[in-house]
Amino acid sequence: MINKRTRRTKEKVSSDNLNFFIEAIAKFCDKCGSPYTVDNLQIIKDNDFSSIIHFSCNNCKSRHIATFVKPMGVSSRMPVNSDLSVDEIAKFSKGSAIPVDDILTVYSMLSKDPVIKI
Ligand SMILES: [Zn+2]
Repeated sequence: MINKRTRRTKEKVSSDNLNFFIEAIAKFCDKCGSPYTVDNLQIIKDNDFSSIIHFSCNNCKSRHIATFVKPMGVSSRMPVNSDLSVDEIAKFSKGSAIPVDDILTVYSMLSKDPVIKI
């Protein structure tokens, strides 16, 4: 019973948050000017300090990711130049950074394969 009530409260807060982010960050698509609705937003990460929100446009299909720093009330937005889905972005954002040595190891392995050109 308590869990159900908590979940409902979170959904309500989340919907309010989405409207807040539209007002605070972007009311319209940067590319085509179409207005955003709560259905165009998905929160990737959210804590007491900051939020990361994914914006997608119904009209031109462009996608942006915005960061919002709560204590300061400032935001920045950048286009998503990737074929990752929003679910994949959320999934990979929870992972830790890949060490540079691991990237170099994979690069060395691939460069030794005569079939692969890098
Ligand atoms: Zn658009």
